[in-house]
Amino acid sequence: MMVLTRKMIEIRNILTKVGQTAALQLPSIVVIGSQSSGKSSVLEAIVGHEFLPKGSNMVTRRPIELTLINTPGSTAEYGEFPALNMGKMTDFSTIQKTLTELNLAVPEEDCVSDDPIQLNIYSPNVPDLSLIDLPGYIQVSSEGQPPELKEKIAELCERYIKPPNVILAISAADVDLANSTALRASRRVDPRGERTIGVITKMDLVEPSRGYAILKDKNYPLRLGYVGVVCKSPGSAKYFFGKNANISGAIIKNENAFFNAHPEFGPDTGAVVGTVNLRQKLMNVLEQTMASSLQGTSDAIHQELEEATYEFKVHYNDRHLTAETYLAESLDRFKHSFKDFTQVFGRPQVRELLKRELDQKVLDFLAQRYWNKPLTEEPYRPRRDEKPLTELPTAEPDNMYWQRKLDASTSQLTKLGFGRLATNVVANALAQHMDRLVSESTFREHPFAKKAISDATNTILNERFYSTSDQVENCIKPYKYEIEVEDREWAQSRDNSQKLLKEELKACEEAYKALGNSVGKKKLAQAMTFVDRQREGPRGAATLEGTDAFGFSHALLERAREGVFLRDRSALLKMRLYAIKSKQCGNKANKYYCPEVFLDVVAEKLTSTAVLFLNVELLSEFYYHFPRELDNRLGRHLSPEQVDAIAREDPKIRKHIDLQQRKQLLELALEKMDSLMALEKSKKAAERSG
Ligand code: GDP
Repeated sequence: MMVLTRKMIEIRNILTKVGQTAALQLPSIVVIGSQSSGKSSVLEAIVGHEFLPKGSNMVTRRPIELTLINTPGSTAEYGEFPALNMGKMTDFSTIQKTLTELNLAVPEEDCVSDDPIQLNIYSPNVPDLSLIDLPGYIQVSSEGQPPELKEKIAELCERYIKPPNVILAISAADVDLANSTALRASRRVDPRGERTIGVITKMDLVEPSRGYAILKDKNYPLRLGYVGVVCKSPGSAKYFFGKNANISGAIIKNENAFFNAHPEFGPDTGAVVGTVNLRQKLMNVLEQTMASSLQGTSDAIHQELEEATYEFKVHYNDRHLTAETYLAESLDRFKHSFKDFTQVFGRPQVRELLKRELDQKVLDFLAQRYWNKPLTEEPYRPRRDEKPLTELPTAEPDNMYWQRKLDASTSQLTKLGFGRLATNVVANALAQHMDRLVSESTFREHPFAKKAISDATNTILNERFYSTSDQVENCIKPYKYEIEVEDREWAQSRDNSQKLLKEELKACEEAYKALGNSVGKKKLAQAMTFVDRQREGPRGAATLEGTDAFGFSHALLERAREGVFLRDRSALLKMRLYAIKSKQCGNKANKYYCPEVFLDVVAEKLTSTAVLFLNVELLSEFYYHFPRELDNRLGRHLSPEQVDAIAREDPKIRKHIDLQQRKQLLELALEKMDSLMALEKSKKAAERSG
């Protein structure tokens, strides 16, 4: 049993996950040969299946790191591409197809790529081996191939045939050894033939005596020797044994028939022939190479580990972090911030939101119905520096005109679909607050978590949206028919309206001031006078003659119109404020005279009613369900892979986890290495004493 190779392959698999640095690479057998030398046939004879890309054009463009893993207890044979996550492939033609695709993915202009394809093959019929198949050398580029292809392939091979790798140099018996590209390449890096195994294929194509002479070649002596093989694929065997059947047996049978028929290759001739012997040789040589590289590899792992340990200490203060704990902590923190939020976003806040919304509506409706005419008539427009007019328009309570006006405004408010509007306002506010919480949390770096949170929010809100808005709408129904006002309510709304109008007035005056500052006060005043005159019609326009007013630019006139609007609006707001402050408005009986106050009463009633239901139907429900939805989406239902993927979305966390994993893997590799070295030592000691 080749224990060492097997264990080393295990260690190599660990090291592969660490990320390949040259120092950490374990010895492999690198297979080189020129095109059509029979390289694929040899590899397939060893594996027992056709699985390599075939075709007249060169199809191997990337190195294939082929790891054979002997599985004595099982009959299953399958391959796996560890980097591709495609699972076990029991059909070798699928493996062949995948390899072809992976090779063809290398762009034509790049010719070859040094990014290796990793392929593991598990079978009770393969030995534990690690082989690297490289693109075949070509002599001259054929049509359609880039001229630099030849050099590129040679360079790629050069990189792989360095020590401690073993070189498997394939040459065909029907080509003069002096012309073997594989042997020439190996010679350059292994001039004394210390780590090259020569394989002579197509032994059946030359006279046995000549074949024998090649195997005993003295011009290119190799310490590990030559092995002659006949590896032609049995072709028809497939039809006998089924598409996916192992072909080793058939090849060996065919090969044995050939070698047995020729005494030149008999047991005592010293010629090493046959795939079976080749396999055995590969196993022995690899095992020995592995053994002699133990110390070096162990040292390399040590060094990498030391570096990783140091880095981990310096950057992360040895803080242990896993994707699971990271996600769990982040989730916990987020739930805390959510809890805090629920404490500060309750009934009063919802109330304020809704009222603000309705205040705007009231202002709009009143503007439409009461203040909808341009203020050209004198009583409405106070002159500059003048107090607002004390003469206010009157609205007699028994005048149908004023009654209708107020009724219409009131229904506009009660029938505006407040159920829908209010629910929408609160739902949007909640969604916005959730976005804010996310942006303030560690989840801001995690698209998956962000989406999960927004999905959770939307799901809960959407589920309750219609029923909530219906409920609210139902409950405000009575106000569509009758509104009773109490003195206390009236007084409060009078205050509210005053406050609101004052705010509006302030905003308006500020905008006017800003406009004056940007245009220039004098220039603005002149242009506004011009606009005023224009508006007065022909009579006003006549007075323009003789002035230089026509010199105003289009842009300036635009600003002037804005100025006129703001000035008139300020005047109007002042007048409205004045009206509300007046004695008449102190009494609810004068509601036709004080529509602002009355509508504010209505808005207050709508708001209070809506808040009750929104609180129960939307807010409390949301606060109850959200943490649960969150658990469903970001909690224990996620697979470890998903958790890992989420944690890695944050580059900082990814680095931390990666380094920690690297450290752990190196520790594991070193542990295995140490026990392997101990085993080797005791084996050697036993050999000595035995
Ligand atoms: P590669 O290009 O080096 O991978 O070469 P292949 O393995 O594809 O072989 C090239 C050709 O040689 C194919 O047609 C094989 O069937 C044939 N071939 C390979 N090995 C032998 C052999 O031992 N004897 C004979 N007669 N033909 C062989």
